[in-house]
Amino acid sequence: MKERAIIVGASMAGLLAARICADHFKEVVILEKDELPIGPQHRKGIPQDQQLHLLLAKGNQIINRLFPGIGEELVAQGAIAGDLGLLMQWYSDGGFRPQCLTGQQTILLSRPLLENALRQRLMQKNNVLIKDQTRVSRWQLKGGKITGIHTSEGYIEADLCVDTCGIASSVPAALDTWNYPLPRVEQVQVNVKYTSCIFERPADFKGLININSDAPRNSKHGTVQAIEGNKMIVMVQGREQDDVPADIASLKAYTKQLEHPLIYQTIEHLNPLGTLTHYHIPKVRWVHFEELSRFPAGLLVLGDAICRLNPVYGQGMSSAALQAEVLNQVLQKGLREDSWKIYFKQVAQLLKSPWEVTLAEDFKFAGTQGQAPKIPKLVERYFAKLSRVMNQDPVLFVAFASVVNLMKPPTSLLRPNLIWRVLRAK
Ligand SMILES: Cc1cc2nc3c(=O)[nH]c(=O)nc-3n(C[C@H](O)[C@H](O)[C@H](O)COP(=O)(O)OP(=O)(O)OC[C@H]3O[C@@H](n4cnc5c(N)ncnc54)[C@H](O)[C@@H]3O)c2cc1C
Repeated sequence: MKERAIIVGASMAGLLAARICADHFKEVVILEKDELPIGPQHRKGIPQDQQLHLLLAKGNQIINRLFPGIGEELVAQGAIAGDLGLLMQWYSDGGFRPQCLTGQQTILLSRPLLENALRQRLMQKNNVLIKDQTRVSRWQLKGGKITGIHTSEGYIEADLCVDTCGIASSVPAALDTWNYPLPRVEQVQVNVKYTSCIFERPADFKGLININSDAPRNSKHGTVQAIEGNKMIVMVQGREQDDVPADIASLKAYTKQLEHPLIYQTIEHLNPLGTLTHYHIPKVRWVHFEELSRFPAGLLVLGDAICRLNPVYGQGMSSAALQAEVLNQVLQKGLREDSWKIYFKQVAQLLKSPWEVTLAEDFKFAGTQGQAPKIPKLVERYFAKLSRVMNQDPVLFVAFASVVNLMKPPTSLLRPNLIWRVLRAK
């Protein structure tokens, strides 16, 4: 067992990485620049935690495996667990998706509640230390290996450092300073604008409503999710051309312009419990560390620091959980000088589908700028028809739900029996 791993950043990616490292290192130190709250509260370093966060089945599965019993613990705190297919009323392609059992287990809750639960669990581990209000200023490189970190609180030695600083990651800039090759950064201008607000929750509302945009005609998207404390979070999302709601009245008016009025009907007479919060995502980006020929040993990167996806599909936390599993596999083989090569290659393989699927949707809107994924026309037409006809076919919907929840790859939708169902459907 190696001596010490340092994780920089105590958000979802950092907490999951720390949980993995706790099985492979005598000591794990998490360094976080924010002052961490004692309970499930918003904090400055995660401005997006006030926006709606859906945990997909894959993320839910991995988190429950890493933190046994956490699902029950969260339900006891007011979260709602269940099958996503039963919980969600999902309007898309001119109708509602079948509301049926899909086998995709999720948990509905606020982002701070989830993060707090993971943090509390880690604090109970003897070999994990969380040091907040500690900003990392510089990595120490010696003989091609990262040997430690300079922080606002002093220098700490480590056998492995994992950067999980999200878009604030300093690794690309540090590579430049050390004269290492720089990673290619793929960026796509998406200009997505989020607004969320917490409302009181009617006693009979215990699920999720999702009203998809209809590209390219209507770029407005809306979601309502039940969360703990008899509350629900209402989120609307638009693109460049869409206004951002400035107050509750304009938020309600916005939900009237969605493809279906169900969200408007749900919140029309309800009172907000807070103010509107906004989040603008000008671009999504993928840092291609997997293409590098040289990279310091003893350093890895995980989460949004590698790839920030358009969150409209809710894949960020689950993608971080999948990357944490890759980290586990790599550490199980023993930390080596070239561990980074295997790690970044495997992470890139699992990011390819979520990246392409979200971009395929983004590029339906005129304002999107960058490199569109190359999807053969025939495949594109097949997926467009699948999306339309699954509203009448639960078998197709169940297969689709397993892809959306990152449980299966998109190629699983190209099985002969599914192709047959899509082709023969009117
Ligand atoms: C509007 C919006 C909605 C989203 N909705 C969903 C959703 O529905 N479902 C989903 O799964 N995902 C969603 N996501 C994505 C999700 O929030 C992220 O993927 C997830 O938080 C993982 O990010 P991360 O831990 O890699 O980085 P971040 O969450 O960005 O965390 C970075 C951490 O590093 C710390 N830090 C930064 N610099 C330093 C430093 N120098 N020293 C020490 N600490 C530092 C920060 O304070 C922070 O704690 C959404 C994102 C956005 C923006």
